[in-house]
Amino acid sequence: VPTPLAELAPVAGIQAVVDVSDLPPTLVAQKPRLLDRILGAVLFRERVIYLDQSQVAPRLRFTNGHELIHKLIPWHEAPFRLDGHRDLFGPTKQLLETEANFGAADLLFQNSVFMGRALDSQLSLDSPIALADDFEVSLHAAIRYYVDNHPDAVALVVGGRISRDGTVPIWLETESPAFRGRYGRVHEVLNLMRLPVESGSPVGDVVAAAMHSLEVVRGKLELRTSDNRALRFVADAFYNQYCTFLLVSEEHRLNLGRKITVRAAGQVAVPR
Ligand SMILES: [Zn+2]
Repeated sequence: VPTPLAELAPVAGIQAVVDVSDLPPTLVAQKPRLLDRILGAVLFRERVIYLDQSQVAPRLRFTNGHELIHKLIPWHEAPFRLDGHRDLFGPTKQLLETEANFGAADLLFQNSVFMGRALDSQLSLDSPIALADDFEVSLHAAIRYYVDNHPDAVALVVGGRISRDGTVPIWLETESPAFRGRYGRVHEVLNLMRLPVESGSPVGDVVAAAMHSLEVVRGKLELRTSDNRALRFVADAFYNQYCTFLLVSEEHRLNLGRKITVRAAGQVAVPR
């Protein structure tokens, strides 16, 4: 850790990793018009990976991993070589890209290595955030990997910045298999299409507190099911000036560490 991608390239059969500005002119001409910026590409025959080196470091590593995986998965070469990226059927291309993204994540997080370390500390947004630098991955990727692979019922909502209507647009949501099996999709559980930022609702309280903090803040969520059962969750929120992260987990899983109480008035107190 971090995964030595440069040493992996020859193992994957790649002879050179070069900047995308060196992409052969014939390929540049084929570049789909909508895609004005190629982040990465692999030429199977030439065994060369092209990377846009101007990407921020964690993003560059992810793109590098993505292209390596295209080369490593035996069934990727034929469709890409026969059809070229641009002509590949939508669903097929989507499937291959999804596979490459999964593979890139596993390369960078080294599966059980990341999760083993993450599960050493209590269930919290702090856990993947603390490991992101070691693995040279983005906060976003670390948090998402943590949730997707967590053995407990946890869910993640990622939003952007506050928009004019005072709410935060939701960019993505994901759940661990345990959460999805027990409760379904997280936006349905929370009954949210956008993230509220003002106090008055449990989610609004914790998101608002995160917007004014450099650290992860924690609040409690109590939700009523249609048959009037109470579901108790804990919500961790973190805002890094670009994205708002909301991690939802079952309350009984958490009995360690600092506690934050959301008061009725909407103030979030953080006892030290
Ligand atoms: Zn790709």
